[in-house]
Amino acid sequence: MKVAIIGGGPAGCAAAYTLQKNQIDFEIFEAADEVGGRTKQLHRDDGYNLGTGALFLMGGIYPRTMALLREMERKKQLVPWTGASELMDDDGSRYPVRLDSFFSFIKVPTLGLRDKLRIIGTGLRLFFAPSARNPFDGSQLARYDGDENLEDWSRANLGDKAFEYVMRPIMDFLYAVPLRELSTPFPKALMKQGHKIALSSPEGGIGQINEWFLDNVSPDRIHVSTPVEGLTREDQKWRVSYSGGSILVDKLIIATEAFIAANLLKAHLSEDAYRRLMSTHYTEYAHVAVGYDEDPWPDYPTDIVLPVGEGGVRNVGAMVLHGRRLPASVPNGAQMVGVYFNTPPLKDMSDDDIKEEAVKQVNAAFGQAQKPSFVHLFRYEKGLTIAKPGHYKILNKVHSLLPEGVELAGDYFSQAGVEAAVHSGEKAAKNLLRYRAQEF
Ligand SMILES: Cc1cc2nc3c(=O)[nH]c(=O)nc-3n(C[C@H](O)[C@H](O)[C@H](O)COP(=O)(O)OP(=O)(O)OC[C@H]3O[C@@H](n4cnc5c(N)ncnc54)[C@H](O)[C@@H]3O)c2cc1C
Repeated sequence: MKVAIIGGGPAGCAAAYTLQKNQIDFEIFEAADEVGGRTKQLHRDDGYNLGTGALFLMGGIYPRTMALLREMERKKQLVPWTGASELMDDDGSRYPVRLDSFFSFIKVPTLGLRDKLRIIGTGLRLFFAPSARNPFDGSQLARYDGDENLEDWSRANLGDKAFEYVMRPIMDFLYAVPLRELSTPFPKALMKQGHKIALSSPEGGIGQINEWFLDNVSPDRIHVSTPVEGLTREDQKWRVSYSGGSILVDKLIIATEAFIAANLLKAHLSEDAYRRLMSTHYTEYAHVAVGYDEDPWPDYPTDIVLPVGEGGVRNVGAMVLHGRRLPASVPNGAQMVGVYFNTPPLKDMSDDDIKEEAVKQVNAAFGQAQKPSFVHLFRYEKGLTIAKPGHYKILNKVHSLLPEGVELAGDYFSQAGVEAAVHSGEKAAKNLLRYRAQEF
């Protein structure tokens, strides 16, 4: 059996790792000039290592990622991070919390006794209620997917204050969209399994995971700068065409973004399957890396500042001191702040507006600093996959509507997150292994 993997993000790389482990012949095609997708690193000549997208793994709620890292004997190379944070209220007040602990938010003084009791009561109810075992497994999430949106659920079950001071800051950082646009099965599973969260990253940044997955893959099977342009059926096989050539394979794993997969497969999909894939919602996203050759805040008490308040739209969801999160990502004595924007204000902001706002917010959060050494904007037209109410059900059905010999992988089957990608990539490869078992 020969397989083509299209897309070299964490989903495609996890699929490659799984096929390699099972001695399946495959080639992997990546459109960009290196693998990694939205987890790529950008190594600057002056020694800063910028994450173009993903920042951290989340421990026990990333079960397949952690299992594969353990299997590759790479888990011990993860750099742990406490995620010590502070909420920055509209009036300037600061409240310490930890990103890896929902219950640390209970101490926030804007919450009254009634709010705290509601959080504890809802937490306990969720703990005993059935939910997705893996919060990034789309088929498990689909079982609990209704019309409910996260804002309505949070206000009804946690109260308005906890919505503003607990749920909104966490979700603004993770997904940057109004909570009305998010479905509930993922955050509920997250609350239930909050005790398993442990933040970390490989020393070289999240992008290093892809290199680890491809460690034992011969370089002549990895085709970068090779966007796949067409897929045609030839007897029982698939012809994969790219600029300058084509190959014939038995099976396909398409691990691109949903809309690219839909268009590559358009001629081979039902109208229903195509529409389902195209319904995946990607949001505009921007973050800015602000670098300082001399750390202006060596003694700052926390690593993250999360702006909060009651109502209103905030431009920024989170600011992260990357030099604390991952010391090797900055030169000695330097600091780099990641400023993660919320999506709604971006539509009215130019690139220069975003950079200017980022520096202003950094000074407001951590204290006035010298002029930064660099300000690097990452702006994505389609940055994060967002699970709106009903999304998991719509996408989960797609697996059963695919042509024979085709598997899809990608974070969009649940929501943005390396675990979503890795889980789906591994699963796609395992499904193909089942075909092989049937063939013999
Ligand atoms: C700013 C930002 C911050 C994030 N932070 C985190 C975080 O802290 N933790 C976390 O777990 N997740 C985070 N994520 C999400 C995480 O990066 C994604 O969930 C993950 O990268 C998805 O992996 P994927 O393989 O499904 O897709 P992608 O990473 O998008 O990979 C798809 C690949 O397919 C390739 N491709 C597309 N078309 C073709 C074609 N025609 N032929 C060949 N190749 C093609 C693309 O070039 C790309 O490399 C973040 C994302 C962003 C944008």
